[in-house]
Amino acid sequence: MAQLIDGKRLSNQVLQDVACEVERLRSEHNVVPTLAVVLVGEDPASQVYVRNKVKRAKEAGMGSILHRLDAGTTQGELNRLIDRLNHDSQVHGILVQLPLPSHLDEDEVIAAINPAKDVDGFHPLNVGALAAGQASLVPCTPQGCMIMLHRVMPELRGKHAVVVGRSNIVGKPMAALLLQADCTVTMAHSRTQEIESLCRNADIVIAAAGRPGLVGADWIKPGATVIDVGINAVEVEGTRKLVGDVAFDAVSRTAGAITPVPGGVGPMTIACLLLNTTRAARQQLASLAPPRPSVSCP
Ligand code: NAD
Repeated sequence: MAQLIDGKRLSNQVLQDVACEVERLRSEHNVVPTLAVVLVGEDPASQVYVRNKVKRAKEAGMGSILHRLDAGTTQGELNRLIDRLNHDSQVHGILVQLPLPSHLDEDEVIAAINPAKDVDGFHPLNVGALAAGQASLVPCTPQGCMIMLHRVMPELRGKHAVVVGRSNIVGKPMAALLLQADCTVTMAHSRTQEIESLCRNADIVIAAAGRPGLVGADWIKPGATVIDVGINAVEVEGTRKLVGDVAFDAVSRTAGAITPVPGGVGPMTIACLLLNTTRAARQQLASLAPPRPSVSCP
């Protein structure tokens, strides 16, 4: 049976590190890392996600401010709020919960966020920095997946990873991080042919397609590591249940290590959001510090 990669336990370890860094920033610099979360409209899933993010931030000793905006908020009103948060020195991270109502332009909103406060890592400058292998605020879900992978595979160099899904928020940044870790990366998507045999050759399969149970046991090489990013609500015998993109029971018998849903990637995503917020606070502090003299003074 595959080793279970316990996202709850791992995320608690990340959150403990975050809480220590929050305490250091407070005691050494009198800074309380603060996350501003913007929620537009009444999407029920988004409300749950946002509540969780704010709750976890408080538990880690961070500041968190929730801006709830009416579903009819205009682009101008939203842009003005982002602009205000960009200039608020008490706010270190800004997260706009997606999806936005259809009359709002998500790309415009993401581009309006100060890249130094873009704790989701979606701003084009941060996307470019990641693609170029430079330090940046990295999207939270793929960052969490990398922490999980490192736990069970200390050496990633030369491993063949298949990423199923090519979205901007999961698949593409995931592939960039795996490349940075010296994996050989194949990206698969809805138009990929012979996806099963591609996956069967992989040492690592990252499933991020949003298709319940897509990845079956016959897709997985014995001993491979399987990270299930999918979160899909399905009805089982009249009860609503959350499942991943991986047929967990069957794949557990073939894989070497596997993440569950729920309790896998989900908790890691929130932990990495808070990690990014402390990193953003630290970087903003450094950018305020007076420049060091380049030569020693007499
Ligand atoms: P998306 O819809 O933006 O992208 C899905 C991708 O999967 C697309 O690139 C598409 O080409 C590919 N795809 C769809 N059907 C496929 C198939 N049959 N075979 C191969 N590829 C296929 O989705 P997303 O935002 O990247 O999210 C993917 C899943 O991950 C969803 O279930 C989402 O809820 C979940 N998610 C989880 C977390 C978390 O914290 N655990 C975070 C983000 C997204």
